Amino acid sequence: STRIVLASRPDGAPTTDNFRLEVVSLPELSEGQVLIRVIYLSLDPYMRGRMSTAESYADPVEIDEVMVGGTVGQVVESRHPEFPAGDYVLAYAGWQSHAVVDGRHLRKLDPAAAPLSTAVGVLGMPGFTAYSGLLKIGQPKAGETVVVAAASGPVGSAVGQIAKVKGARAVGIAGGPEKCAYVLEKLGFDAVVDHRAPDFAEQLRAAVPDGIDVYFENVGGAVAAAVLPLLNLYARVPVCGLIAQYNDTAAPEGPDRLPGFFSRVLVKSLTIRGFIQSEFVPEMFADFQRDVAAWIAEGRFAYREDFVEGIENAPSAFIGLLEGRNFGKLVVRVGEE
Ligand code: NDP
Repeated sequence: STRIVLASRPDGAPTTDNFRLEVVSLPELSEGQVLIRVIYLSLDPYMRGRMSTAESYADPVEIDEVMVGGTVGQVVESRHPEFPAGDYVLAYAGWQSHAVVDGRHLRKLDPAAAPLSTAVGVLGMPGFTAYSGLLKIGQPKAGETVVVAAASGPVGSAVGQIAKVKGARAVGIAGGPEKCAYVLEKLGFDAVVDHRAPDFAEQLRAAVPDGIDVYFENVGGAVAAAVLPLLNLYARVPVCGLIAQYNDTAAPEGPDRLPGFFSRVLVKSLTIRGFIQSEFVPEMFADFQRDVAAWIAEGRFAYREDFVEGIENAPSAFIGLLEGRNFGKLVVRVGEE
């Protein structure tokens, strides 16, 4: 098996030196296990957290251990009755070409029902993050304004499109003209603002003439600072991710924004609620799959994937994800379908 391990912990933005490619042999199968060959490896922002020892909701990857990650694969050898050789499965096999995994942690995939890669994208974890966080915490109502950044990515694109299905006005924030055009034209958002524009805060204000009722927080940093004064009375803020801050090594320069933030929370009666999508899986995953599959079939829901070839290119692709170099759900093609 070819695999990528964590070689060292990053200080600030990760570099390719933080990763190491290895070729190893795999253990024999025990009862209940299967050997899978990985076809698609999902690269996601949360992996930055796993590279670090900072406190998080999950343990870090240890040095010299395989980087974690969601994968789509095919069973090659099986000692589990429910997953015979040939089956396609969703697993958490990590950054490697082959893996021995416990059958208890697998979900069977039907390649005829949807493209296999969507199991780690629009019909998988990122799509579900948008669905659960927006509907459970954001609770958009018809006519309200929903704002989301990283709007061309798998979470943000789904947030805006679900907001539209619910009759709300969707305003996206994205980096650069190409992504902005996609968000407006292909995803059907009502407006989009480029966060790299020098007058971003003014453009955002102009794009939300009725203020903001739901801010789905994907990025933090300067985007969040521009959003805060625009939040309406009783606005809801599902706090999903803070990607603009993941590589920070120190608090930002400048005045302490915390008193101003809490003052806003008080005077506008804001609801700010962090979440990790897994919290809502038992309650909502089946509804999510049914709804999003139907919306795609009805042509009301678009998605975009950004494929990178070869596991050896996973580190540089992941580093690019944190800088916005991906365009769509970032997936590494590790093997043929
Ligand atoms: P994306 O594929 O959208 O990739 C991240 C995007 O973030 C980049 O492409 C870039 O887009 C944008 N970005 C990066 N830096 C900045 C910045 N400084 N300011 C503004 N935008 C920036 O990622 P996902 O859709 O997979 O994830 C989106 C967010 O959701 C992340 O914060 C992630 O951690 C979080 N998440 C949380 C989960 C949970 O359970 N709570 C589960 C899954 C994801 P652009 O070029 O447009 O700026």
